[in-house]
Amino acid sequence: MDKNKLETLKKEYAELTVRSGINLQKGQRLVIPSSVDCADFARMCAAAAYEAGCREVVMDWTDDIMTRMKYLCADDDIFGTVNSWEKEFYDVLGKEGAGWLSIYSEDPEKLKGVDPERIKRAQIARGNALKEFREREMRSEFQWCVCSVPSKAWTKAVFPDMDEEAAEERLWEEIFSACRVTEGETVSSWEAHTQELQTHVNILNDYHFARLHYKNSAGTDVTVELPELHYWAGGDEKCRNGVMFSANIPTEEVFTLPKRDGINGRIVATKPLSHNGTIIDGFWFEVKDGKITEVHAEKGEEVLKHAITVDEGASYFGEVALVPYDSPISHSGVLFLNTLYDENASCHFAFGEAYPLIEGAENMTEEELKAAGANFSMTHVDFMVGSRDLEITGITGDGREVPVFIDGNFAF
Ligand code: ZN
Ligand code: ZN
Repeated sequence: MDKNKLETLKKEYAELTVRSGINLQKGQRLVIPSSVDCADFARMCAAAAYEAGCREVVMDWTDDIMTRMKYLCADDDIFGTVNSWEKEFYDVLGKEGAGWLSIYSEDPEKLKGVDPERIKRAQIARGNALKEFREREMRSEFQWCVCSVPSKAWTKAVFPDMDEEAAEERLWEEIFSACRVTEGETVSSWEAHTQELQTHVNILNDYHFARLHYKNSAGTDVTVELPELHYWAGGDEKCRNGVMFSANIPTEEVFTLPKRDGINGRIVATKPLSHNGTIIDGFWFEVKDGKITEVHAEKGEEVLKHAITVDEGASYFGEVALVPYDSPISHSGVLFLNTLYDENASCHFAFGEAYPLIEGAENMTEEELKAAGANFSMTHVDFMVGSRDLEITGITGDGREVPVFIDGNFAF
């Protein structure tokens, strides 16, 4: 791809994240958490935001190398605390309703070899401090969007054998294709795509399944009960202020929440997962009445065991998402080691916090949502379970069995 075209498409992609991702409103503040490796792209997003009438762009810079250095070298006691000004940053801007555009591009193994106990303590401290903010986000009280652009470390992890420059260009091409970035038509292509996702959402909402049964040759054999008042979502969603936004760019999923105590069987992951800067691979969960009772991983088992025990809700599930095996990202054949991309190439579950996709949730308390079947946790970790031979059967309230997935793809 020639240099000018590459720059044009990057700019269109940045505009897409601000216009369709956040759908930034005039006079609204925008927070951009970004790695310093992605500064060029962050600047393009900021320019697009000001163009759209942004009141102020607030940067929240991170650096994988400094993060790793801190985990290895800082005083041990700091991992159990969060600075009050940090909590204030999230709470003030969250309450104000600022848009939140995360540019996520981390080295999938940035914390490899770091004591998992230290990571867990930091996660618990942060989870407790940012509880209020996270709840606002899960309830879509402000528009938020996650996107990814190539950083050196991520690019190297995806294409380890390629020349650096060629690898970066290739990764950009994969991103443009997954995000429907098409010169001059990016926003309209994206909108057509999110509309399309709505078709499957409507069909699933019409069936209103009581349970789903998953089975494949990888070893998954699990029944997932859905809450009485659940609904499916996908594509774009409505913020509390009425503005439509796309929380993930790209997105290929339609998703809902499982009933907290309603999962039984074995769930086997079909792709590796980069979590807390470590790669976890070859793993499965045995689940009884919604709770993980047994876990095994060929790689990263220690980190996984810590991840499902950060709090009580971390060993229960918060999301079931359907993605066809033949999705465009899956067709690329690339293993991205980046959850935003890998989860949109595969059916997935998440352990931890549920999105409150429950009718009437906006007027329900945490206790009422729990009673309706929603799981609460400070964590939410997606992992992939899709395969070419995945069969999913939906069972309606009156016991009718309907094929939902045949051979890894939607049956309807
Ligand atoms: Zn998902
Ligand atoms: Zn998720």
